[in-house]
Order: sequence, then C-alpha cells, then structure tokens
Amino acid sequence: MKILIINAGSSSLKYQLIDMNGEKVIAKGLVERIGIEGSKLTHRYGQDGKYELTVPMKDHTAAMGHVLDALQHKEHGVIQSIDEIGAVGHRVLHGGEKITQSTLIDDYVMSVIEEYIPLGPLHNPANLMGIRACKAVMPNTPMVAVFDTAFHQTMPPKAYLYGIPLKYYQELGIRRYGFHGTSHRYIAGEITKRLGTPHSKVVICHLGNGSSLSACVDGKCQDTSMGLTPLEGVLMGTRSGSLDPAVVQFISEREGMTATQVVNMLNKQSGLLALSQRSSDMRDVYVGAEEGDEKCKVTLDVWAYGVKKYIGAYAAAMGGLDAIVFTAGIGENDYRSRASVCEGLEFLGVKLDPDKNKALRGAEGVISAPDSKVQVWVIPTNEELAIARDTLALAGK
Ligand code: AMP
Repeated sequence: MKILIINAGSSSLKYQLIDMNGEKVIAKGLVERIGIEGSKLTHRYGQDGKYELTVPMKDHTAAMGHVLDALQHKEHGVIQSIDEIGAVGHRVLHGGEKITQSTLIDDYVMSVIEEYIPLGPLHNPANLMGIRACKAVMPNTPMVAVFDTAFHQTMPPKAYLYGIPLKYYQELGIRRYGFHGTSHRYIAGEITKRLGTPHSKVVICHLGNGSSLSACVDGKCQDTSMGLTPLEGVLMGTRSGSLDPAVVQFISEREGMTATQVVNMLNKQSGLLALSQRSSDMRDVYVGAEEGDEKCKVTLDVWAYGVKKYIGAYAAAMGGLDAIVFTAGIGENDYRSRASVCEGLEFLGVKLDPDKNKALRGAEGVISAPDSKVQVWVIPTNEELAIARDTLALAGK
C-alpha cells in the first residue's frame, strides 16, 4: 500500500509518499507560503528528480490539490491516480490527555484537535487545515492522526505535574505534555529491538534545532524534558530551554514588553543563537569556537552541560541506565557534541569508544566501548516512517 504523510504548518505543507512494500519514499515535497504571495511547491521524486511550481495557492485545500497533481503528473508524477494512495497519515501536535495513541480520524478526533488549540495555537489549527484539505480532495481515503504528545502520556503524575495550584491543571490542563513523541517512540522501539530485551532503562536524546530528552523504562516514557510547550528543557537553536519563570516578569517590567513578547523572545531569539551571538546552527557555533570566539565556546559548554544534567537526572529517576541513544540533526551527525555530553559520565558506567564515535555520522551504530556498562547508540530518527507504519496498522486492509 502507498501511504501519504502530511505535516501541515500554518503556511506550509510537507508531504511524503511512502510505498509500504519495502518502506521506500517514492516522492516528497514542500508547499511554502500558502495563502501568501509567492506560494511555491517543490516536489522531489526518484533519485534526484525535482519539479517546482509557483502559482497562487489561497489555502491548504488549493495546496493539497497541487500536491496531488504533482504526484500524478505525466512527467514528474509517481502514481497514475489518487486511488493508489491507500491511506493518509497526518502529523498532529497536541492531543492533550484525551489521545494517547495514533488513531483513525473521525469527528471526535477532529473535535479533540480543536479543543487543544489553546495548547498548540500555531500547530493544531494548521494540522486541522491539513486534514480538512485532504478530506476535501480525497473524501473516501482513510486518514490517521499521529500525535506528537501521545507517546509521553504514560508519564506518571509525579513527572507531569507542575508545583502550582492544582486548579490550573484541573481547569486549564497545565502540565508537562512533552513533544517529539513520534521520534521518541520510534527510537524507543528501535533500541528495544537492538537491546534484545523488553526490560530496559534508556535515555533518548533527540538533539536537533529543537531538542528533547526522554527517560524510557521498558520502552515506555516515564519523563521528558519538554513541558506544556516545546520551550522547556535543554538549550536549543533559538529556544532558551528551562529558566526561572520570574525572568519573564523581570524582563517584561524592565523592557516594557508583554509576557507574550518575552515568551516569543525565549522561543525565537534565545538558545544557541543568543549565547553565541552568531547562529542557531550548531555547525556555525563550532566554527566560531574553532576560531577562538569565547562566546561560542561558552555556548557549547552551556549546551552540553544542560544535556548531561538531564541524563544524570533521568538515570536517577529510573534507578539505573542501560543505554543512551543519540538522534536528530546534532545527535546523528556531530561526534563532538556526543563526546562532550558523555564526558564525565563514566561514574554512571558510560564509556565511549572515541574512534567509533568519530567515525559515525548520519548512520546507526554503537559508539560505546565494549566494556561500557551503558550502551551508547546513534540511531537516525524517522518520524515519517513511524507515522506511515501507524497509518498502515490502522487503515491498511
Ligand atoms: P534537526 O532539527 O534535527 O534537523 O537538526 C538541526 C541541527 O543539527 C542544527 O543545529 C545543525 O547544525 C545540526 N547538525 C546537522 N549536521 C551537523 C553536523 N555535521 N555537525 C554538527 N551539527 C549538525
């Protein structure tokens, strides 16, 4: 069966068409600037086929129409008819406490996505637009929603409750939800297979432009670093990660900014970008450090120190540690970041093999020494494939 994966943003739409027979991506692309001047579709297919289309697209339904046209295009297409698409899998940000696993989309699921708009104000409306657009152009195709928050719903109250008046949890739903759940779940499944036992204590480090860690016991999430929103946790590309909440009030009063403006600054102008005063991209921060830029050096220290502290905290929370897995852009590609995170964790039984670590880039493998008590792995994440597998399981006939 061929499955179409849709990841809709407020003015963008990413897609992949995956042939589940062999789990191969046969086409993928991106529509940008939906509803704004300069709408553009970039469609990729085959080895290195590329087709671009710049036409006005007033909404997501128009964009979906062009995506389906591209997929069926005489020269650039990969299917003869949309009937070949057996099901559609949608990436959805927030399912709150009501949705704990991937699910076939019906009116109830749509209403839950709508209900959690206050907790995912940028993503949930866009995800709904993507679903409605697909339903409009392919009304008879089954659709599945795969939620970023679902994997973390196994966290116990001690991990998800914030120490604020309980009414804010009960009435407003304020608690830790966690994000990147599809990636953490995919990695949890893969590492469980590699370890060859269902019983394990694993810290998953999803380190990219956005970063989050999770503590997984027997493949289930016990804790995660992101919270009510993806701002909490470790230092990220442009996000500050955790800080004293009084900082918001302090800056707001001193700088005459609203709380919303301060939180925007914490989301978009902080993190690696703010400390290095150079870039939100880890590669650029390393270049700066190599050139002797002290700000870049301290940025790298802050970043690795923060990640290391979470690993220690999660080992304590789980009462042990069998494996650490690195994934996402930095985790998969950057041996220096992995080395600095693991440095000093020997007391936990973590011993890297420096040569294996250095040699591994963008591929799977073990980077710990044979006598390391804790196995350290690099496993590339694949959220689209995880969504496609769920979609096949729920909608495949
Ligand atoms: P992601 O959000 O998962 O796409 O990850 C993006 C981040 O990965 C950016 O900070 C990139 O600088 C970082 N990244 C990708 N490749 C490398 C690399 N070879 N070395 C260091 N960082 C990298």
